Amino acid sequence: MKSFALTFFLATAASAQSIDSMIDRELPSLIETYKTLHTSPELSMQEEKTSATVAARLRQLGYTVADHIGNYEQAGTTCYGIVAVMKNGDGPVVLLRSDMDALPVQEQTGLPYASRVANVMHACGHDVHMATLVGTASLLAQLESRWHGTVMLIGQPAEEVVQGASAMLRDRLYERFPRPNFAIAVHDNSSMPAGQIGYCPGYFMANSDSVNITIRGVGGHGASPQSTKDPIVVASEVVLALQTIVSRENSPLDPAVVTVGSIHGGTKRNIIPDQVNLLLTVRTYKPEVRKRVLASIERVAKGIALAAGIPEDRAPIFEVVRAESTDSTYNDPTLTERLARVLKKEMGAGNVVQIDPLMVSEDFGRFGLERQIPVCMLNVGAVDPAKIASGARLPSLHSSEFAPVPEPTIRGAVKAMTLSVLELLR
Ligand SMILES: [Zn+2]
Ligand SMILES: [Zn+2]
Repeated sequence: MKSFALTFFLATAASAQSIDSMIDRELPSLIETYKTLHTSPELSMQEEKTSATVAARLRQLGYTVADHIGNYEQAGTTCYGIVAVMKNGDGPVVLLRSDMDALPVQEQTGLPYASRVANVMHACGHDVHMATLVGTASLLAQLESRWHGTVMLIGQPAEEVVQGASAMLRDRLYERFPRPNFAIAVHDNSSMPAGQIGYCPGYFMANSDSVNITIRGVGGHGASPQSTKDPIVVASEVVLALQTIVSRENSPLDPAVVTVGSIHGGTKRNIIPDQVNLLLTVRTYKPEVRKRVLASIERVAKGIALAAGIPEDRAPIFEVVRAESTDSTYNDPTLTERLARVLKKEMGAGNVVQIDPLMVSEDFGRFGLERQIPVCMLNVGAVDPAKIASGARLPSLHSSEFAPVPEPTIRGAVKAMTLSVLELLR
């Protein structure tokens, strides 16, 4: 018994070590790929060169790669989705996804490999994810003897505008390519030490709804309010009253956010305008909370307008912009715990930690077809641990100063993704 345990331990240690030394060999080229992608970012729905770079790398590694996968709803648009498949005998299908798009941000990091495109930056680290996808693809190709089944790698465009995943599914992704048994992904994290893995079973990211409210009044002279219905005063009341939805109508145990991010109305100080436009983002987890909070927003806006005497035919217009909204990411608890167990064993318990859910959102969850397919998104820390220890301000994702530390971050992400796929295709 003792010798069996020892042999097992040695075999496990040896396999973990061999993955480390394989990553050592891959890292210089992965860092180069990362820096190439970082210097030449492309905005959502425009990832032409980025997707070509990723597709070429995956083809070199022996994957069967299809490109230009996906259909957007807007006419005249091209979708740059990539699907790379490697079938290795019978077994389950694992989908591994990286997003590819950058953000309209002017980079301020001062790095030698900073973006060379004005006002476009990989400020969310999707370049880290692409390098991780390529690195994991390479390791899995070399480790063929240790897994059975199908690996399906996805290069997804347009994550930041939450349209890429649905565009790829609309293009019959799961009919033209194998339907996965599991879908996994990793996103970098701007507050965790570089290379550390974070996991969160259950709700991980929020439903995000983009809501427009048009408050319509009756305009007129600023000196004669008695002959108008002032939409600026009504909009002001609406903005404040909306805050009571979370604080007074919602259970404190159900996270929710109602943010009015934009308010526009009027042209001149002595004119009462005809309308004011409010743009909101609304975040929730549970579907029933989502439905109730959205209904409350509409009720509050219409109720306040009514109380102000605005005629019913000029009641506020309430609109949820579906194309800019997305569902929560629910990490399948069984899958997430299974991966966390393996990663803790292979990477050390201190390098794999449970983290809190986030109120930001993602469209990765769509690959799970409303929980028909278990999904799990992990996080990988991207920050120099010394910087965290110093208590310095840490630039968040989407910040012009966000600068992941490439080496330990990509190393940790490649190791976690490789070990996850090996576990699921054992
Ligand atoms: Zn982002
Ligand atoms: Zn992102």
